[in-house]
Amino acid sequence: MKVQDPPPPTYAFDYKNPPRSGNEINGLNQEEKTRARHVFHNATGESLPWNALDEFFSQINVWGVVKHMLANIWQLRRQDGPLREPQIKVEDPVAMTAEIKARARDLGIGLVGVTAMFDEALYEGYEVSHRYAICLGLPMDRKEMLQAPHERAAVEVMRAYKDVSRIAVELSEQIRAMGWPAKAYGNPNSTDILHIPLAVRAGLGELGKHGSLISREYGSNFRLATVLTDLPLVSNEPVDLAVDDLCKSCRRCVVDCPPGAIFNEKQLVRGEKKWYVDFDKCIPYFVKTYGCAICIEVCPWSEPGRGPNLFKKLMARREKQHSE
Ligand code: SF4
Ligand code: SF4
Repeated sequence: MKVQDPPPPTYAFDYKNPPRSGNEINGLNQEEKTRARHVFHNATGESLPWNALDEFFSQINVWGVVKHMLANIWQLRRQDGPLREPQIKVEDPVAMTAEIKARARDLGIGLVGVTAMFDEALYEGYEVSHRYAICLGLPMDRKEMLQAPHERAAVEVMRAYKDVSRIAVELSEQIRAMGWPAKAYGNPNSTDILHIPLAVRAGLGELGKHGSLISREYGSNFRLATVLTDLPLVSNEPVDLAVDDLCKSCRRCVVDCPPGAIFNEKQLVRGEKKWYVDFDKCIPYFVKTYGCAICIEVCPWSEPGRGPNLFKKLMARREKQHSE
């Protein structure tokens, strides 16, 4: 994808007194391992340093975005509910996992994986409430996303969030109808869980230099939702797509990010070296451009049909290097 004249990274509505750095809140350069803290897109009602920009972002949205956002909020009223009795017995968790994945696909999902819940997938102050996470990924319409950074891409992002939330809600209802607890979590506004670390453990993809998940099937051109449940399931393993092998030499997203928010090297974040995007540089531009999305669309993995070939080539290159 080629970015067509993106708006410059300067803007008129900058903070007069900038809030506490989002990078500091996120734990950039912090050696101690701690949980993530809310900083943006927060639905918990907490008062956060970046709330003013977050509220401004929701108020400047075009009607196409607002329409999907309202529908999403409305359907997420059904994220949890009463369990039907009697509870069905699960004697074969492998077969049940296959059935749940088939049900998710019948509902229209593109990617589905399962992982056991773990503490780091929760924001600070929350406790693990369910045994498993069913991670769901829905592709976005590439034609619309190629308009990024533009309102048309923003509408498509929110359409995908609404539809992946609907699938999560319906799947959770089906699980509760079996008598097992299940709660659906849709995006983009965060409450207690972090979708990306869960999706990495569930084998949906790997984190790329642009800070987003990369899958073999859709690159980064998809959106996530999650169902937490106690239904006995079997976890997937994280996948190795050789994403790092390419990110180490590719600089596409770094070069094309207008405010220069993407680090070329992994950073220390809350005690772990990983790809990280400079929050303070990205978010103002993200707000100015209705959600930006340049980095995820310029990524070669996001070109339709290219992921499986990239994977094959990178793996072949790795094997060759190991045999030399
Ligand atoms: S979303 Fe953020 S990191 Fe990605 S290109 Fe836009 S400004 Fe850069
Ligand atoms: S554009 Fe290149 S460097 Fe950036 S995430 Fe994609 S593969 Fe990695």
